[in-house]
Amino acid sequence: MEKVLLIRYGEIGLKGQNRKYFEDTLRRNILLAVRNQVSDNQDIQVLRSYGRFYLTGFDAEHQEECMDVISKIPGVVGVCPAIVVDNVVDAVEEGAVAIMKEAVAQISLGRSTVTFKVSTKRPNKSFPFTSPEMNQRIGAVILKNVPGLSVDLHNPDIILNLEIREKGTYLYVYDRPGPGGLPVGVSGRGTVLISGGIDSPVSAYMAMKRGVDVNALHFWSYPITGQRAKDKVVDICKVLRQFHPQFRLFIAPFTDIQTQIIEKCPENYRVITMRRMMMRVATEFCKNEGGQVIFTGENLGQVASQTLESLTVIEDAAGLPILRPLICFDKTEIIDKAKEIGTYDISCLPYEDCCSVFVPKHPVTKPTLERAIAAEKNIDVDLLVKECVEGIREAQLEDDI
Ligand code: ATP
Ligand code: MG
Repeated sequence: MEKVLLIRYGEIGLKGQNRKYFEDTLRRNILLAVRNQVSDNQDIQVLRSYGRFYLTGFDAEHQEECMDVISKIPGVVGVCPAIVVDNVVDAVEEGAVAIMKEAVAQISLGRSTVTFKVSTKRPNKSFPFTSPEMNQRIGAVILKNVPGLSVDLHNPDIILNLEIREKGTYLYVYDRPGPGGLPVGVSGRGTVLISGGIDSPVSAYMAMKRGVDVNALHFWSYPITGQRAKDKVVDICKVLRQFHPQFRLFIAPFTDIQTQIIEKCPENYRVITMRRMMMRVATEFCKNEGGQVIFTGENLGQVASQTLESLTVIEDAAGLPILRPLICFDKTEIIDKAKEIGTYDISCLPYEDCCSVFVPKHPVTKPTLERAIAAEKNIDVDLLVKECVEGIREAQLEDDI
């Protein structure tokens, strides 16, 4: 009897080479995540068989930890503890009793009888009993050996799943849902602009979930915004790293650009000009990193810089497509998502972002491109962008396990 974690993933619509690429990438991502986050990981392996992965070689005491890590990886549809036994009826019976005893001990319903049913799949047709026969047989053995259970075929508290496969029979009881989506990496590369607010981390998560290998870029105006503003972004990115083990954060020095804008550009175009400068720097950086797109947390109509006119004028300065996963979300929907992924509490900490200091009293809500370009005439755009790109440094996200 061997304990494994059974990992399910979506494969609808994946054919041929695409499917192999999807599987290889997901498998690598799972391994990386487990190696980064679970201690004692030397013997852990991810095996593939019949459209599933199996995590093997972990210590029983790390099972929960492994489940936690895996259930956050984009592409994973569900993960559950399973035991594998030989394709021999006695062994299946023994395994079924063991796993049901454990399941009953864990469930607390506040009533004396717990209901269950057995659900068998039998891809291995050489096994001597049919699925309905196994359901009945194993059900009877459980009733006899595990106290406090009764059968309910329609709405059971516990479903014992049996999968009789070539190499053995897998038994498992419950499934922890994963995020679904696509494995990070299969949709190409990009850069996400992370501000430390509520929105951009959610945008980063959504990019990852659609398979984009994103890295993060934060514009930091030290000492206008302090050390804590940066630490906050680092903390947010540590949370995001759970979904993408190779996620990296880069810090762009924005002080010179911001100071020049404040001194030399019209006040009502300040935020627009800052954003346009960010887009120019992000474009260079993203291209240098082999990326194809820029993600932001922009959302239609939230603030002056997020009207359609503003978004259009900002986008004009970018040399790559800008993707805005949150564009049509309500704030409450974004907040719910931020809570779900675990970035909300950090985002709510009260440290300032470079765009929130020196916000003019009356920013334009309907900027024009002509005026935005005119607003930049007193600053040396190319030189500022060049210097900022050259000053970009990676921030450390790793914690030792
Ligand atoms: P967020 O909650 O992400 O801050 P927001 O709705 O408050 O979003 P803004 O602060 O106006 O919007 O910023 C819009 C987008 O511009 C952000 O979502 C982010 O992608 C990007 N951005 C803003 N400030 C920075 C910064 N200092 N560094 C990197 N990106 C930034
Ligand atoms: Mg913000």
